[in-house]
Amino acid sequence: LIVSGGVISVFGIVLAGFLLAKRAMFPIQAAWEKQQQFVSDVSHELRSPLTGIYSNAELMLRYPDRSIREECHRINAIMQESKRMTKLIASLLTLARSDSGKSDLSLGVINLSAVVHEVVSHFEVFKELNDISLAVTIAPAVEIIGDKDRLHQLLVILLDNAFKFTPAGGQVAVACHIAKKNAIVSVSDTGVGIVPENVPRIFDRFFRGDKSRSRNAGGTGLGLAIAQWIVEKHGGRIDVKSSLGKGTNFIVSFPLPKKTAGPGRTETDKK
Ligand code: ADP
Repeated sequence: LIVSGGVISVFGIVLAGFLLAKRAMFPIQAAWEKQQQFVSDVSHELRSPLTGIYSNAELMLRYPDRSIREECHRINAIMQESKRMTKLIASLLTLARSDSGKSDLSLGVINLSAVVHEVVSHFEVFKELNDISLAVTIAPAVEIIGDKDRLHQLLVILLDNAFKFTPAGGQVAVACHIAKKNAIVSVSDTGVGIVPENVPRIFDRFFRGDKSRSRNAGGTGLGLAIAQWIVEKHGGRIDVKSSLGKGTNFIVSFPLPKKTAGPGRTETDKK
């Protein structure tokens, strides 16, 4: 009995050890699976523009007597695919640096109103090209502590999406102001909206609600993952409200620097 009791207790200890080890392995296994999925997504995303470049070049070689004018569409396709790859690689580098913790922001007092102004002015041309109206309300001199280039990148991502997912005749509205002791940037559109079950997934890497639409518009599915990282690095938060077929509103809020005085304060905030 003593011996069999001993056997039982040894067995019990081994079993408990095994179960504990297995439990401890869960997060490692989940991280490993996530990493595997990421590598597979990256390979897939890189392969498709490469295939486009290769096949167009191959077809051009097949008819060496054709003029550049005749092959213009193929050259254009090669250029577009190369552009997509460049964008994808730049986004992957940003995310890789963010993962390794090597991407420190170069922080300083930033005039957020001026950054929003600057980015919005670059989008004036899209407004005309796509027949989309652009409403802009920017309070003067809203200041935060931030990295100007990253904030610029964040706004480009949000505005780019707003224009991409809004059909002709629609409206994009951008606002920047102070409310409840935060600097707020809001980008809203009257576009296609997001399917409710997709809303929690839009910040995931490589998530694209409508792959072909996003791809045709040069999307990589990495924009919002980068946007979220930038906002979090600034100690802020990004929220989204969307109504299918009606439009989407991204609201970003940043903490204000400790001693911010009056400028940029809106009537809503003063109340
Ligand atoms: P993409 O390169 O596809 O734009 P993002 O990471 O920027 O990748 O966005 C992920 C997905 O979120 C998009 O494919 C789209 O389904 C959805 N999305 C983002 N912004 C909007 C928007 N303004 N309106 C509708 N859907 C949007």
